Amino acid sequence: MQHVIGVIGLGNMGRNMAATLVKKEFTVYGFDLSADVRQLASEQGILPENDVLELAKKCSTIILSLPKAEHVEAVCLGENGLKAVLNQGTTIIDTTTSVAETSRKVAQELESLGVEFVDAPVSGGPAGAASGTMSMVVGGKKATYEHVLPVLEAMTRVRIHVGEVGAGNIAKIANNLLAAAHLITTAEALTMAEKAGLDPEQALQAISAGSGGSAASQVMFPNWVMNKAYNSGFTMALMRKDVGLAKDLVESLGLDLPMAQKTAELWRASVDQVEDSDDFCAIAKCTNPALFG
Ligand code: NAD
Repeated sequence: MQHVIGVIGLGNMGRNMAATLVKKEFTVYGFDLSADVRQLASEQGILPENDVLELAKKCSTIILSLPKAEHVEAVCLGENGLKAVLNQGTTIIDTTTSVAETSRKVAQELESLGVEFVDAPVSGGPAGAASGTMSMVVGGKKATYEHVLPVLEAMTRVRIHVGEVGAGNIAKIANNLLAAAHLITTAEALTMAEKAGLDPEQALQAISAGSGGSAASQVMFPNWVMNKAYNSGFTMALMRKDVGLAKDLVESLGLDLPMAQKTAELWRASVDQVEDSDDFCAIAKCTNPALFG
């Protein structure tokens, strides 16, 4: 059976995912609170819906791409939420970087209606969403994962089913904790190399080819930091949320993880220098404003 897809949240990620699914010949409805965003989506072949509940009634698979866990809970379970209208047999694929407890709560409440839920946060940014090459970590029942696999395959290059509902968000937060730390350590390593007399561009090439390489040195610094473009399509506000979620998880587990703690501290301190609306890579400016500002 062909999945009829509804995408809720048509921002930097959701709109590009939806457009990719249109290119792969799925029928895709889209809803966003912003009328301007719905208009943009319609120009990409996404069928715009002005009423989220009407979208839910039409679709067998619903993809969420919302800012935070609280939006996911409100959209699914809140007053005027999807819960009231979802058809039995619907599957929700939540690509929001959210919180494992929220995923479990939403999944449990929907299960009684015959609606399945997987948390499926993604990596790869708007470019990965637009080209169908994202990486995705999925938490949920194996049978549900397999049921929506054609949709996941259309959006991703790599998919990893990491466990039950909630596991996807834990894996994603672990990933983003590392990305947040790597941005700072790469800025520090380049600062050290420059002060010692190296050309920063050459130092970056050396790092990215070596064992210290990471997405920070291989993708983020070349594309968005060294050229001062700061236009990755991922905001500081969203990365601050993710670092905060990692800190909360570490604390809730009673762990003593000094690097995680220091990373959270540095990201928190960046509020004095970098706005929520800035690009997340602007954290590099806090290490060395002269080099990266
Ligand atoms: P965004 O802010 O660009 O888009 C979010 C969209 O959700 C906005 O258009 C907003 O109007 C809409 N929205 C908010 N509440 C809504 C509601 N109740 N109903 C319908 N629409 C609503 O954010 P984004 O960059 O697309 O990120 C989406 C999610 O993906 C976040 O959880 C983020 O952490 C995660 N993520 C983002 C990136 C990236 O590079 N941008 C990469 C990986 C993961």
